Amino acid sequence: MKKTNFLIKTAETDNVAIVTSIEGIQEGSMLEDALISKEFIPMGHKIALNELPKNSPIIRYGQIIGYAAQHIQPGEWVHEGKMSLPRPPELKDIPFSSKLTAETPPLEGYTFQGYRNPDGSVGTKNVLGISTSVQCVAGLTQYVVKKIKEELLPSYPNVDDVVALNHTYGCGVAIDAPAAMVPIKTIQNIAANPNFGGEVMVIGLGCEKLRPERIMEPHPKKQPEKSSILYMQDPAFQGFQQMVDASLELAKQHLQRLNERKRETCPASELVVGMQCGGSDAFSGLTANPAAGFAADLIVRAGGRVMFSEVTEVRDAIHLLVPRASDASVAQALIDEMKWYDDYLLHGEADRSANTTPGNKKGGLSTIVEKALGSIAKSGTSPIVDVLSPGEKIRKKGLSFAATPAGDFVCGTLQLAAGMNVHLFMTGRGTPYGLSMVPVIKISSNTSLSQRWFDLIDLDAGQIASGDKTVEEMGWELFHLILEVASGRKKVAADVLGIHNDLVLFNPGPLT
Ligand code: CA
Repeated sequence: MKKTNFLIKTAETDNVAIVTSIEGIQEGSMLEDALISKEFIPMGHKIALNELPKNSPIIRYGQIIGYAAQHIQPGEWVHEGKMSLPRPPELKDIPFSSKLTAETPPLEGYTFQGYRNPDGSVGTKNVLGISTSVQCVAGLTQYVVKKIKEELLPSYPNVDDVVALNHTYGCGVAIDAPAAMVPIKTIQNIAANPNFGGEVMVIGLGCEKLRPERIMEPHPKKQPEKSSILYMQDPAFQGFQQMVDASLELAKQHLQRLNERKRETCPASELVVGMQCGGSDAFSGLTANPAAGFAADLIVRAGGRVMFSEVTEVRDAIHLLVPRASDASVAQALIDEMKWYDDYLLHGEADRSANTTPGNKKGGLSTIVEKALGSIAKSGTSPIVDVLSPGEKIRKKGLSFAATPAGDFVCGTLQLAAGMNVHLFMTGRGTPYGLSMVPVIKISSNTSLSQRWFDLIDLDAGQIASGDKTVEEMGWELFHLILEVASGRKKVAADVLGIHNDLVLFNPGPLT
């Protein structure tokens, strides 16, 4: 990465650079190599370093991010209005590679204080999660959660929280359609997230298509006492209050066991870190995502599990990911997930140019290709050892690709189901994203955001763009922060403020 006071160039062959100064660059500014800006260019946006004839490639990260839609002079602002979009890489043309990334030395001696579960997983929080089989019961669960917080939680000091795992699935859906397995598996696997300590409490209605018993299916049958179901339509209940009282009685049994959980020293290999970004800008691929990628490599070296996601944000960079697959079957699985999503988008007549968002564009990201190249920086350099379909649980140690939509809440929900115990969220434009089940560490790609949102952002990776820190230093800082957060010693901004988002299921199946 070549940096002057005003510009960052990401690769030697790039013919555009990114403006780093918060005020942007004024028209007529003298820049490096006798380059003079032809117009005002805002922070995060691109300046042409060379003459770019019409239809010539525009190169950032050493890759084609678009083509000049008109003749562009050196010093001009290169934005989406002057660019045309390249086609995504043809999936059938991507070569598999049998040569793996060089083995990196294991990283030993790093630990965190976690809650060890009977199934071997480790929690970073101690939470009672109340699952639901259908949206009809959302009112009761919210009512019950409020009462538990007020009346029961004070008696169980080791329990951090109680959360309603509400969603909009469960009825009015084609429950046996093949695609229904995605939301069903997601609901089943969220109940098994390590932060819930193996306790599964389900509130159901009684007549819904998704049977509450089905949510229990994948849970170990050895400890039936750790699972409970309440049906609102149970004829024993005379009125709402009796349902509330019965729910509180069930909750008490789970809370008693959760209250016995104690943090113990666990190796960093028990981390399961989910990574995604939201509200990205042109700095995301220079600062926050590379720092996350460095931390991801450290976690992999420590024997932990890391996943990155967001199919539409890696699709245009898939030719760089497939060669990193650990074997041909993983490479094929990556391609299959891309193909599935291509068909899904085609079926819905998705408009490819609608990603990037207006905020991405304002932040300097002109095309989805540019966004994708910045997005995959968070995957670091480790081999990709496994590919998860939406709703699946993470299987292997190392770096996995969990196929999910890119929408923050859907991606976060699927990574929860995959079993993450820490969530990294990189943002450039700023989003207040948070989850109550798992700590979300929010990392800003630019210092301007972390200064304005001083109480919403946990780490300022903008220090890389200003030259105050290297990617490596920031990556280590993030790694240590992950261990602190996983240990409960440091609370993330979203938890301090108590602001959390809803679960949003990915349901590619039909509604009825
Ligand atoms: Ca996202």
